[in-house]
Amino acid sequence: MNKYILSIDAGTSSSRAVIIDKKGQVMGVSQYEFTQYFPNDGWVEHNPLEIWNSQLKAIKDVLKKTNISAEMIHSFGITNQRETTVIWNKETGEPVYNAIVWQDRRTKDLCEKLKNKNLETIFQNKTGLLLDPYFSGTKIKWILENNPELIEIIKEDKLAFGTIDTWLIWKLTNGAKHVTDLTNASRTLLFNIHTLKWDEELINLLDIPKNILPEIVSSSEFVGYISVNILGSKIPITAIAGDQQASLFGQMCLDEGDVKNTYGTGCFCVMNTGQKIVKSKNKMLTTIAYQLNGKTNYAIEGSVFVGGSLIQWLRDQLGIISHASEIEDLANSVENSGGITFISALSGLGAPYWSPDSFGSIIGITRKTNKGHIARAALEAIAIRTYEIISCMEKDADIKFSSLKVDGGACANDLLMQIQSNIINKKVIRPKFTECTSLGIAFLSGLASGYWKSVEDLKDIWKPEKIFSPKNEDQRILSDWNKRIKKIN
Ligand code: ADP
Repeated sequence: MNKYILSIDAGTSSSRAVIIDKKGQVMGVSQYEFTQYFPNDGWVEHNPLEIWNSQLKAIKDVLKKTNISAEMIHSFGITNQRETTVIWNKETGEPVYNAIVWQDRRTKDLCEKLKNKNLETIFQNKTGLLLDPYFSGTKIKWILENNPELIEIIKEDKLAFGTIDTWLIWKLTNGAKHVTDLTNASRTLLFNIHTLKWDEELINLLDIPKNILPEIVSSSEFVGYISVNILGSKIPITAIAGDQQASLFGQMCLDEGDVKNTYGTGCFCVMNTGQKIVKSKNKMLTTIAYQLNGKTNYAIEGSVFVGGSLIQWLRDQLGIISHASEIEDLANSVENSGGITFISALSGLGAPYWSPDSFGSIIGITRKTNKGHIARAALEAIAIRTYEIISCMEKDADIKFSSLKVDGGACANDLLMQIQSNIINKKVIRPKFTECTSLGIAFLSGLASGYWKSVEDLKDIWKPEKIFSPKNEDQRILSDWNKRIKKIN
């Protein structure tokens, strides 16, 4: 009987299920969106039960449409939106509050308070993270403080915390497994990336009861079985990893200095730093890349808040295109950006500026400027922001790398990829299969279950589709950017 790997990607806006065969080919994909709740300014929530139901629907759907039965699944892996926090009652199986999503800023004041007590260095040294509402720790504290009735449930040892991987595995195993992997744990502010354990001091600083935390497992090992009553067959769960880490693995960035950038709504750049824990001087994050065969690889990560969303803005707010994919033709309708610079600070500016109050602008407009120039300058802005992150990483890690692997929706844009290559002066490599997140978690699952024998087997699966080599013609763009960004900061 042919066997396959079932991967799920529990994302921020949708639940996806993908079936992959031994050659890394996608047999089928199923995807369901779920509701985003914005109950207050800066608040973002999901309903954990809706996530569970949509995820289960996607799994059943992909099995049905590919005509692959549960018995034909060799093993299962889960990758997920990171940091999003769920707390539930283990006895009733009911969440005690909505999931607080990574984008949610409600714990900004709490983070400020901790910073004012000079605690950021302790958190940064131990976790590789910054005191920012982005991470799970302060979200857990917020739920506990705002639901005082939970004290009794904690005393009875019935309360559980988890990120989305933990929640879904708990549901898939009918409550038998309360686990997370190191990559997800490393985004909570509670996990020590040196000892690879929950950290007592940090847990106490945030007043979090230890008995609600999940057991930590590696990213690629047997964890338990999907309960037989869910899909009709016991399927081994053998991989868990956060989405950016899974994509790093799916891009086969397995050696020190390998880098990938995902061009989605934002851009997420991750560099594998091998067994080295790099401490950033530029407020990049240090994180766990994955743990495989008992060996832990670390990574350094930086993100650009406004990536593909800049193109959405041109589509939805300016209306100069009707589909994101039209941006390439429009930008190609001119030879260059005509001397304009598009400062893409639509939601402030992240690394290396860290200026949340900066705003966007289009500078250098003349009577000759047309929408083609604006489109081209927008693509340049995405590439320049990525370049800035990459430069910080190279300095922090003291590693010069030779090429950048790319994935995500906007990497389909050849012009953007060419501009990127010119600006970073390195090769940009786009793989044949750009669904690297699902592929990465399938790889991690198949390695643990013996579907693939070793990473050597995987190297033949990952194939480049197009390589963009640098053409040295974009120095003006960068020098204008450097001059002009000072004007808005
Ligand atoms: P996410 O996972 O964050 O939802 P995706 O990886 O699906 O994002 O990518 C979607 C983003 O990519 C959108 O912001 C969209 O504007 C942008 N995008 C899609 N196609 C193109 C293109 N051809 N050129 C530039 N941007 C694009």
